Amino acid sequence: MKKWRVDFNESLHPEPWRDFYARYFPELDRMDIKEDGFTVQSLKCLYHDDRKPSATVNVKSGFYVCHVCGSFSPYRFLVEIAGIAPEDASYFINDYLRELYVKDERTGSYLRAFPHYDPSHTYIPTPGQEEEFEEFIKEAKARLRPELPIVQEYITARGIKYEMLERFEWGYVPHDEDAGQVECLVVPFRVRGKIRAIRGRAYDGRKGAVKNSRFSLWNLDSLEGKSQAVIVEGESDALRTIQALEACGVDIPVMSVPGNNFRKEWKREFEGIRTVYLIPQDDDASANFVRSALAVLGEERCKVVELPWKRGDVGKDICEWLTRNDHTDQELVELIPLEEHQDRFSRYYRVEELLKREPAEPDWLVRGMIARGQKILVQGPPKQMKTWFVLSLLKALSRGENVCGVSFWKTTVSGVKAVMVEEEHSTNALIQRVQQSLAGTCNIVIPHRTGVKLLPKNPEFEDLLKFIDEFRPDLLVLDPLRSFFDGDENDSSVMQQVFAPLNMLLRKYPHMAVVVVDHTAKKPSDVLVYASRGSSVKGAEMDGVIDIRKFQKDEDVGVVVTGEFRDAETVENLSLKFEDGNLVYDDGFRINIKLKDSEVRLQKLAKLLTQRSYTQKELTDLLKVSDQTVRNDISKLRAGGFTIEEEGGHQGSPKTYTLTKTPDGWKADDEDSGE
Ligand SMILES: [Zn+2]
Repeated sequence: MKKWRVDFNESLHPEPWRDFYARYFPELDRMDIKEDGFTVQSLKCLYHDDRKPSATVNVKSGFYVCHVCGSFSPYRFLVEIAGIAPEDASYFINDYLRELYVKDERTGSYLRAFPHYDPSHTYIPTPGQEEEFEEFIKEAKARLRPELPIVQEYITARGIKYEMLERFEWGYVPHDEDAGQVECLVVPFRVRGKIRAIRGRAYDGRKGAVKNSRFSLWNLDSLEGKSQAVIVEGESDALRTIQALEACGVDIPVMSVPGNNFRKEWKREFEGIRTVYLIPQDDDASANFVRSALAVLGEERCKVVELPWKRGDVGKDICEWLTRNDHTDQELVELIPLEEHQDRFSRYYRVEELLKREPAEPDWLVRGMIARGQKILVQGPPKQMKTWFVLSLLKALSRGENVCGVSFWKTTVSGVKAVMVEEEHSTNALIQRVQQSLAGTCNIVIPHRTGVKLLPKNPEFEDLLKFIDEFRPDLLVLDPLRSFFDGDENDSSVMQQVFAPLNMLLRKYPHMAVVVVDHTAKKPSDVLVYASRGSSVKGAEMDGVIDIRKFQKDEDVGVVVTGEFRDAETVENLSLKFEDGNLVYDDGFRINIKLKDSEVRLQKLAKLLTQRSYTQKELTDLLKVSDQTVRNDISKLRAGGFTIEEEGGHQGSPKTYTLTKTPDGWKADDEDSGE
């Protein structure tokens, strides 16, 4: 800490904080100022009951010092003494400093009062420097605390989560009068893992640097293995953009230029990068950023994303566009015309990154059921009210109600936009269902019998894509899946091709979720066909599978719902009653599913065996049935086309069952079905 310092340029303004404090102490205008910036006379402290004046302000550094209460930065003065909300204080200071210009007497032009420290000429390689940079950052990181005013000021003004600072190794350097050290936040610039530069950021927004910093693009290492990238100006905009992209489930590296010039030497880092999105700030200096980046990277692979500033908007950078003008992460992400190709290595996670990352809560549309970016399968034999279930789901999402009135299926938003591509029913049947189910909803569009095919893709599918691009639904429903492709549904390559365009859609519109309605075996009781129908691709593709079975109880009709989800609790045997076109939860309505126990058990047995080998004893324990029943069930599965090998069964070697093949061609070792 002694040797390494974060240097800042002096303010060009001789007394930058005089006007700031003059609002609170009108007498300041008549006061004399000492060499060091403090007032000669004292002021009455606004914080404690001050009989004799005991406070001074420093019109150079901005510090407010009371002999009784301590010293305060301008931000802390506004929040703790003047009682202004942190967010307002932060905005006010930003605006105040931005408006502060100094006239250059030689040229007659106006200069920013707080010029940024330009370290580009300070770089002299020194032996052992990298280790010392590491040491410096390590110390600074250990000092960072969310409650530090400078941290609060930084993150509230920009809408950045504190975790982002920790993840990207931000640190804190305290004020040190003797060393001439300005209180600041610091952030390392790493290139291939090594710190090459350290940026400082004072509470007043001034940028500084540690001597011998050699600035490159910030977050450059995230580019490794990617095919597209976003470049912004400054680390704050980069952090905020990363936060927005991640919130929308988009995995694209974001870098920032340290100044506003894109240097020739950075071009080599972009080898193999097909598309670069430049998001400039809205000021004159940004023109240079765009011009230099286009010149270095080539116009053909750059896309300039201008933020759509409107009359009356406040600010100039990405953080301000978002926080001060009430724009959402999603709005920002949607401005970026993301290419449809997936990054080659986007799913190659670095363990260091994973160690730092908080597991994100899915962006639920319906908590515990379906999140944005997910695909859910609603399946069951034909005529089992699957479409009614989906209509109930749409109604709940549109009206912001719990799905089917089920307490744990809460919708997180209301008025979502949905597109339900309906290929099965007659138009009259559709009209009847909609009139029964969807009263009081809006923003639901139903392309009906349009002939859309995902495989082979047809012009009707292109129309659907265009509509989705315009309408931007939150939910896309395909009912039923079998209508949307030609070919054998038991052929995994066919099913992969069916799901490819859906996956592409979810990458392009990460805020959307997809529900696929699918028929299983015709005879509800024929569990073997039921369990085996369709390629295992279907199950592997899905983030959730909801099984629907229709039942009759006395005069009433209803369904039993079972759901398994990647990110939520399993739902077992939930009974829903059909009432006036909707499936609703009714405490008194429970369906006796005893008849179906054998079916459920067989499914469970088949599922267990796809995970690993089981002994006879394990299976009787897990299924809570007799040895004989397990043997019978194994025979039933075999009759249904499962290949199950048997070993042991004598002294010292328990009988063990191993599933080697299912009727759809799934083989043991084909995939990891572990969960
Ligand atoms: Zn005081």
